[in-house]
Amino acid sequence: MDALAATIDELDWVPSPMVRPLNRLGIKTWRDLLEHYPRRHEDRAEFSRFPTTSSDKPICVRGIVQKVTSRYFSGRNIVEATLDEGESGALSGRLACRWFNQHYVQKMLAAGQTLVVFGRPKESRGRIYFDHPEFEIVEDEEENLIHLNRITPVYPLTEGLRQRPLRTLIYLAVTRLDEIEDQPVLPGYVASYREAISQIHFPDSWIKLQRSRKTLALAELVGIQIVVENRRRNMVGQPGHAHSSSGSRVEQFLQQLPFKPTRAQKRTIQEIHVDLAADRPMARLLHGDVGAGKTVVATAAMLEVTEAGFQSALMAPTQVLAEQHYQTLKTWLEPMRIRIGLRTGPRKEDAFLELEGDPEIIVGTHALLYDSDPLPRLGLVVIDEQHKFGVLQRGRLLAREPVPDLLVMTATPIPRTLAMTLYGDLDVSTLDEKPIDRKPVITGVRSSRKLPEAANFLRERLQANRQAYIVYPVIEESDSLSVKAAITEFNRWADLLKPAECGLLHGRLAPEERESVMQRFRQGEIRVLIATTVIEVGVDVPNATVMLIENAERFGLAQLHQLRGRIGRGQHQSYCILMTDTKDPLALAKLSVLEKTNDGFEIAEADLRFRGPGDLLGTAQSGLPPLRVADLLQDADLLDEARGIARSILDRDPGLQSAGNQRFLRIVNESTKGGTTLAS
Ligand code: ADP
Ligand code: MG
Repeated sequence: MDALAATIDELDWVPSPMVRPLNRLGIKTWRDLLEHYPRRHEDRAEFSRFPTTSSDKPICVRGIVQKVTSRYFSGRNIVEATLDEGESGALSGRLACRWFNQHYVQKMLAAGQTLVVFGRPKESRGRIYFDHPEFEIVEDEEENLIHLNRITPVYPLTEGLRQRPLRTLIYLAVTRLDEIEDQPVLPGYVASYREAISQIHFPDSWIKLQRSRKTLALAELVGIQIVVENRRRNMVGQPGHAHSSSGSRVEQFLQQLPFKPTRAQKRTIQEIHVDLAADRPMARLLHGDVGAGKTVVATAAMLEVTEAGFQSALMAPTQVLAEQHYQTLKTWLEPMRIRIGLRTGPRKEDAFLELEGDPEIIVGTHALLYDSDPLPRLGLVVIDEQHKFGVLQRGRLLAREPVPDLLVMTATPIPRTLAMTLYGDLDVSTLDEKPIDRKPVITGVRSSRKLPEAANFLRERLQANRQAYIVYPVIEESDSLSVKAAITEFNRWADLLKPAECGLLHGRLAPEERESVMQRFRQGEIRVLIATTVIEVGVDVPNATVMLIENAERFGLAQLHQLRGRIGRGQHQSYCILMTDTKDPLALAKLSVLEKTNDGFEIAEADLRFRGPGDLLGTAQSGLPPLRVADLLQDADLLDEARGIARSILDRDPGLQSAGNQRFLRIVNESTKGGTTLAS
């Protein structure tokens, strides 16, 4: 029996009123309690002296409350507590702690109490202040073993759960580990789970804290790598088909393109060719920044498969993009008499009416996933803009015998560590070169006061025969208020930019209407497209060279980079205007990254830093468990080791049946819940 799997309401040492708030934090079992890691530690063995100057670094001090006052100033209530350093008597420093509009603080504090305070010192008119410090009231002495005189953990909280009772509870959860059998952190390792857990919560020293954090981070990354490696083995371990050909269709295709393929395109086409020729299934990621020309590579792969006598499917996340791919492929491949079908939900019937015989290449959206009449000779599945799909979704397309080859494509530029995790089950081909005639997009952040200038600029570009996008954020495509706002916006812009014809595109339009707007924009009849993020991925109209994004602060960096990727796709200089009225320095710093660089990787790294370690994986999409202790930026050095360990664990125990591997089996099962596994 796994004692740590006991739910907290079964444990007699967990006070029952705490169960509910703990559940709210996602803590269901004893193990969850142990894995509710501190968000930081404070040194309460050796307190800092009271500060005498301002500092950006927060510090932790202890003091005795001299007096507590409350007053109103400019309409705000200010609670102020003056602390005295105590022992050293007359020489001792003074410190004022202030809380604004937090009346309850006054009720908690009283003269004579000892407080532990954590905050940033700020000097003002000769006095030192802590504004809004975190604090704890020191209570009876015996508790001090847990809360004081040590390196003390500080935990994430939720409503109805206070720091001290939670710390006491976790202290219990840790000491109770003595009652059950200890395990190694990783099978075959000496490091003990009990030791690592106790040191990450209540460390004996900062060094031990660091060490146990690394150990637990490694164990966590091993768990993730097992999920990823298992996925991979399930996929490529199955019997597949060789889908290669002489390559004459590919050659013909590349020759008749209106441009010369880049070296990177040729190289990746060759890498894919090798995989197609093998009789095990391909599982490959084509990774290339926006505008690098992934469609050409995908088309070459699909052609090779058709020449070998099989069918290919190309799946796109939006209908707009599926339609576009369909058009592009028709232009490129109809002269070669390749039969192409389109299957988005509503267009299913008529797309097929145009065809004689089976399509050799079929383009579609999610509709492809739910097709009741699957392609009989499917040899290759290409998934464009993979990051817009769940990892688990693609399992559906592959769940057939023999397993088709898989090529997924993404422009989300991510650092290697993240790629190893998110796409660790795939081989990676990189398009690291853009077509030569591309100029970097010139980007500027402007306040809405500059709207008239921006409109003038747009008019000028339109007169020079270019086209433009105007993008605005909607919170919810289904929200009718947003749609109304869109229409108002549209009228305003149509008026401002007269006589240029404007078109409106958003998710609430009927599919036929959406398609006709896109079509007219592509053909240059519509000069300005006012759109929501439906144009975010894949849309390719090289003559559009200006993009104005309203309320740019509401978008994430990666998303802005994607959006901006819609321009700068031809030989003309392109311009991106990021409109914002935000005063938030963080938001402005983010936007200025885009002013400085067009490089997807730089932007991705910046994005990771801004977002912090929290939601790096985009868990829902990845099907991976969230990271609790490991940090893909900080712990990049552990990844190779983690992967090695994961592989050897699976080599020895592919079904994860041994007792020591139960933990990993659980993670694997969790990560495939709610979706089709690649194996089945
Ligand atoms: P992405 O990698 O973002 O999907 P696309 O495949 O849409 O990029 O290609 C972007 C644009 O560049 C398209 O108009 C495409 O026809 C064009 N293109 C692709 N390869 C080349 C090349 N080697 N030289 C010039 N233009 C190219
Ligand atoms: Mg694309």
